[in-house]
Amino acid sequence: MKPADINKIYLKPSSLKDAYDYASEYKKSFRYVAGGTDVFANRFQGNDNSDCFIDLSGIEELKGFENVKDYFRIGALNTLNEVIGNKHINKEYNVLTEAAKMVASPLIRYRATLGGNLLCENRCYYYNQSDWWRDSAGYCLKCEGNICIATGSKKACYSEFVSDTAPALISLNAEVEVCESGEMKRYKLEDIYTCEGVNPRRLKNSDIIVSILIPSGLVFKSVYRKLRQRKSLEFTSLSSAVTINKNNFLKISLSGVDSGPVTYEGNTGSNSEEIIKYFLKISRSVENDMYSREYRREMIKVYISKSLKELGLS
Ligand SMILES: Cc1cc2nc3c(=O)[nH]c(=O)nc-3n(C[C@H](O)[C@H](O)[C@H](O)COP(=O)(O)OP(=O)(O)OC[C@H]3O[C@@H](n4cnc5c(N)ncnc54)[C@H](O)[C@@H]3O)c2cc1C
Ligand code: SF4
Repeated sequence: MKPADINKIYLKPSSLKDAYDYASEYKKSFRYVAGGTDVFANRFQGNDNSDCFIDLSGIEELKGFENVKDYFRIGALNTLNEVIGNKHINKEYNVLTEAAKMVASPLIRYRATLGGNLLCENRCYYYNQSDWWRDSAGYCLKCEGNICIATGSKKACYSEFVSDTAPALISLNAEVEVCESGEMKRYKLEDIYTCEGVNPRRLKNSDIIVSILIPSGLVFKSVYRKLRQRKSLEFTSLSSAVTINKNNFLKISLSGVDSGPVTYEGNTGSNSEEIIKYFLKISRSVENDMYSREYRREMIKVYISKSLKELGLS
């Protein structure tokens, strides 16, 4: 794939219906854009060749914060800065505030949306490179090649799931409201991911995340940690979100160790050694990150035991 020409079709609908109609019209090759911080980085690297961009930023139905029955609803288009600045989120769902603060840089968080963060593209040391870099190193399963450069496998890609807010929201039992062919559906957030490196999402290209719904009144206590080489601006090499709630329910979700989020559910009496064993068994990290696989696996142990201790659980 060669670096794409940016002079393509650009459409800006003002309703979900118009967005969906455009998506049907350009179904062969289009991409939705929210803040554009992920889409355009991928495009300039030659990893996105869509002919048409459908900018969702003019759709009011995708914005705002409100309490709806037993949930707190966050519009998918709210920026990460708006999420960080929201007092209700900070008080009730602090793990989300902490995760959002650790995404990229202040400038990016000013544009980047929560919905876009849940769907940001997976990363890999051998894939997120310029086109000339990949031309010389070779193309892999995720970009028109026939072998994984990281593992030598001809079958599977293990690009890393790197969203910071997804594990935080999963640990809060969040759901997403999705507009599918004009119909509203609701899913547990973890269920929208395939954990498969080439196509990491279960949603269709035309599906639109409308909002994120977090259950109210569960009184969460939480810890969020992120491993990265630079604190100023860096994708994750391991993120962990750990919550307990008033019903003694424990939920842990990790990013950066597999092609999707990896999640554990238990109760406050769960054994920390068993939890760590579980994560080490199911996380499929490979050598495709700035940190070695071995180091990241060691850090899973450190992050989980420290977080559980901080919550008074061991
Ligand atoms: C230098 C740099 C550093 C970064 N660091 C981090 C980091 O530390 N942590 C991190 O998590 N991310 C990071 N990112 C990735 C990205 O900036 C964020 O994930 C951001 O939150 C994406 O949001 P956006 O609104 O800009 O998404 P966009 O780029 O607009 O979209 C991202 C994807 O989501 C789809 N999409 C967006 N909104 C919707 C919707 N409502 N419904 C359906 N599809 C939708 C788009 O089609 C696209 O596929 C970084 C990016 C850069 C360039
Ligand atoms: S894990 Fe392998 S196939 Fe997947 S993006 Fe990296 S090099 Fe390519």
